[in-house]
Amino acid sequence: MPVLPQIESFKDDLTAIRRDLHAHPEIGFEEVRTSGVVAEKLSAWGIEVHRGIGKTGVVGILQGTGGPGKRIGLRADMDALPIQEITNLPWRSTIPDRMHACGHDGHTSMLLGAARYLAENRNFKGTAIFVFQPAEEGLGGARSMIAEKLFERFPCDEIYGLHNAPNLEPGQIQVFPGPAMAGADFFDIKITGKGSHGAMPHMGRDPVIAALTLAGALQTIVSRNADPREAAVLSITKVHAGSAYNVIPEEAELAGTIRTFSQETGELVRARMREIAAGIAATFGVTVTVDIRNIFDVLVNHEEQSEAAAAVAAEIVGAENVLTEPKPVMGSEDFADMLRVVPGAYAWVGHAGNVPVHNPAYVLDDGILPVGASLLARLVETRAAA
Ligand SMILES: [Zn+2]
Ligand SMILES: [Zn+2]
Repeated sequence: MPVLPQIESFKDDLTAIRRDLHAHPEIGFEEVRTSGVVAEKLSAWGIEVHRGIGKTGVVGILQGTGGPGKRIGLRADMDALPIQEITNLPWRSTIPDRMHACGHDGHTSMLLGAARYLAENRNFKGTAIFVFQPAEEGLGGARSMIAEKLFERFPCDEIYGLHNAPNLEPGQIQVFPGPAMAGADFFDIKITGKGSHGAMPHMGRDPVIAALTLAGALQTIVSRNADPREAAVLSITKVHAGSAYNVIPEEAELAGTIRTFSQETGELVRARMREIAAGIAATFGVTVTVDIRNIFDVLVNHEEQSEAAAAVAAEIVGAENVLTEPKPVMGSEDFADMLRVVPGAYAWVGHAGNVPVHNPAYVLDDGILPVGASLLARLVETRAAA
């Protein structure tokens, strides 16, 4: 079976929804218009709608007519990024510094397509639960929905999510069991010294030299402390200090991100960061404060659900186009938090285009909307009866 014919028949509607969302991007927890569009469509198709879960999150509930079965959750993210779009597409962003550069407009449209198909047919056992979450891009949308009792109010036996993948070929779907995406921390380090004249460094305590030395020393954690067989990344992505040529400033700041696949490696990196920072503080006579915040858990696909998703994907794109060999990536994804509570799997759906996500020239190929919608819809039809 290729893409579901019924979904294929309304693919122009899905494209229209996707391009409308693309033209009106909203960043995390500001998805007021987007969640309004979602709620309106779900209601129009006869789906029970709950709004305001995790601020702008939306949940739709649909009972099948096939009798008792499992409760299958499907999740899409709705947020855009603070990026200025540079494409010239007719449906390009109409809002400055806001862009759907990660394709979450596509994910939202695919889940709407699955919801419409399932509402028109209802030929499944059990219950479909459509989870439209806010703020995936590092702001903790999944966590806030879970904190607001998402899975107590709307229990799910399994949950599935997907992401568009311009790095895969169109028509390919990738899903594999086990760790798939890294856990991530963000950190801020503040170095406080004593400001002085740039010509009289002996009168002060220079936080700039301390920051530069610290930045270099932190790179030894991955190269010298972490087990070489364990993946780890420590990237310093922000450096701020000073405002004049002849002033040694009072303060310097470093910030960045840590990525790991195991709790132990994450703990090691965090502990070594604090130890090295304390050593640098003593060495240079400055104060160093280290603030490390966990943002994303490691995304771990459950075995049974990964296999189920791969089998459904094979129905749609053919077994030869389903990639099931484990190839974890260092990127992160907050669907990880949902997979910690409910068994499930996360898939990547390939599409045309060679510009990566988060790039201002990124373009989502609307050709994948029926593919993603079919995958999600068939997961409900097959898994609710499993
Ligand atoms: Zn993203
Ligand atoms: Zn994304």
